[in-house]
Amino acid sequence: MYKIDKINAREILDSRGNPTVEVEIIAKKNGIFGGRKIKAWSSVPSGASTGDFEAVELRDGGERFGGKGVLKAVENIEKKITPEILGMDVLDLQRIEKKMLELDGTENKSNLGANAILAVSMAVTRLGAIAQGQKLYQYIADLAKTPRQDLGVPGPYFNIINGGRHAGNKIAFQEFMISPNLGNFSDDYRAGAEIYHKLKAKIKKELGGAGTLLGDEGGFAPDNFQRAEEALDFIMASIADAGYEGKVDIALDVAASEFFENGKYNLGFKMENDDWKTSDEMVRYYLDLIEKYPIKSIEDPFDQSDFEAFAKIKAEAEKKGVQIVADDLTVTNPERIKKAIENKSANALLLKLNQIGSIGESIEAFKLAKSDGWKVMVSHRSGETTDDFIADFAVGVGAEQIKSGAPARGERVCKYNRLLTIEKNLKS
Ligand code: PEP
Ligand code: MG
Repeated sequence: MYKIDKINAREILDSRGNPTVEVEIIAKKNGIFGGRKIKAWSSVPSGASTGDFEAVELRDGGERFGGKGVLKAVENIEKKITPEILGMDVLDLQRIEKKMLELDGTENKSNLGANAILAVSMAVTRLGAIAQGQKLYQYIADLAKTPRQDLGVPGPYFNIINGGRHAGNKIAFQEFMISPNLGNFSDDYRAGAEIYHKLKAKIKKELGGAGTLLGDEGGFAPDNFQRAEEALDFIMASIADAGYEGKVDIALDVAASEFFENGKYNLGFKMENDDWKTSDEMVRYYLDLIEKYPIKSIEDPFDQSDFEAFAKIKAEAEKKGVQIVADDLTVTNPERIKKAIENKSANALLLKLNQIGSIGESIEAFKLAKSDGWKVMVSHRSGETTDDFIADFAVGVGAEQIKSGAPARGERVCKYNRLLTIEKNLKS
């Protein structure tokens, strides 16, 4: 049995240059001679278009890092969590997580911080895999009771044009994604990268070099685009240029909570002139986009509290084979997922570990979505680290889809690159 022996927590920077939590946990084997040690690390990501109902990311406030320091979360790991879980068996993730949740004692993890709890939770999961001599995805599959024959690599959604809160440009929609359908992950990855490069060349030629500047998730963020259609036209042309016409689906993350005010949506929220739309006008707009482009997935088409508008578009989109993904609406929280199921508001879940803050609860959220036949897209955050945990998590629980930003930039591709290795392992 490997028992938790030491925990080192520290403040590091994420891909946006903001502090986040990293943890390293050392466990020691029992026995007369004792001594054999294993260790694992993890680091947590951070969102920009965060939902109001997410678990709390504890920040220090004050002057340091503009108030975004995480020294309190680090201290919570070292002074509050560590004494309680020292000596516990690394295979007892459930007990360790329960202990942390009890210690926190709040609904939204605002006491210890979801960033503190999740970092420990992830590292303990990794230690469990090492102790069992398993790959991380195999160990997660055992935790989630995923049948071995269901293990496969999820379909990737590459975010190649960034807007919304993830870019300084004018476009309201946050993410324009492509999902190649070539039958296996490595070919999809290659197609994603080839289309990304064709898009870069096209933007450079037609909009000038400044158009190839990037947003937070590594997608291009040209200032020239004002409407979603302009971005979509460039993407469609790039798919054709790369020779993948008819083989690539389009997905949108509207992140509509970011431009919702007093019951209306302002598509011009980053432009000089406002462009207000009612919910019904937005429904018509989405249906129009679905007619014109091979859109197969729309995430957060409406505000995070508007279960009804979600249900309206879901009913219409479903008839056309388009999935409606709930992100800010459900925030990986079982209670909110239940409400979305009751209201028929979505048929796919965006699953972000740090929205709920522990591995056990993330698996519970996955299962709940599955119980109503939803698809699940495991997701990174716009502020990321080089931790590739979500790749193993997505495979282990049996998620059909994953998004980790563009097929470029280290913190994005480390997840996709890990999937290449897993794909090879699963084949052999
Ligand atoms: C998203 O909204 O799906 C996303 C990844 O962005 P963020 O991390 O900023 O919430
Ligand atoms: Mg989203």
